[in-house]
Amino acid sequence: CGIVGYIGNKDTQAVLIEGLKKLEYRGYDSAGIAVFTNQGLQIAKAQGRLANLESKLEGTPLVGSAGIGHTRWATHGKPSDVNSHPHTDNSHKFSVVHNGIVENYLELKDELISQGHHFVSETDTEVISHLIAREYDGDIVKAVQKAIGYMRGAFALGVLTEYEPDKLVAVRQASPLIIGIGEGENFIGSDIPAILQYTRKVYILNDGEMAVLTQDSVELMTIEGNFISREMIHVDWDA
Ligand code: GLU
Repeated sequence: CGIVGYIGNKDTQAVLIEGLKKLEYRGYDSAGIAVFTNQGLQIAKAQGRLANLESKLEGTPLVGSAGIGHTRWATHGKPSDVNSHPHTDNSHKFSVVHNGIVENYLELKDELISQGHHFVSETDTEVISHLIAREYDGDIVKAVQKAIGYMRGAFALGVLTEYEPDKLVAVRQASPLIIGIGEGENFIGSDIPAILQYTRKVYILNDGEMAVLTQDSVELMTIEGNFISREMIHVDWDA
């Protein structure tokens, strides 16, 4: 239902939680974040209000320089801690937040199970993290492109992998997503208010497009991998 993502030197957890608060108006049943910490990719998630997630993080904050966050409006699998996003794969090296629906998730799930993947949630989203893990061959952008080649439906994605901690990958296919440009930091969000307190420079992704963010760069491309250039929007209104 709502996605935020951050790569940079601010307090990543705080940026994610603030962004999720701005997305609260969309309604949600669960919330979660994944952050690269010095112990690797760590995930915290909780059913219910953002306050539940915040109290889980109290005393054990996730400290790191990149992260993704999500508020969920359950479509596949009941609202619960385990069905909340971010989702991961069996290696716990990949982490995914997703808005929308993967229509063919059941057939993908059956195939992945027959290939030895174990699932912990009832969501359509979990197949995405397993697909990306299966397709990964040293290049997260290619792995995401291959994974979405198998998926039908509507999705916006934020993806992190422990193998390439300097990158945040975002995809838009029939579910909104914008990119915020900072200095030495970059953002993704389901809408502009999620990031407006940090930057007013924005790229709007169109359907079938993706972005690769590092702290110092944003590359835009089609999901087929053709680079695109896009005019940056300067937001002059307040949320
Ligand atoms: N289909 C996914 C789920 O049920 C994502 C729902 C959403 O957009 O929040 O977990």
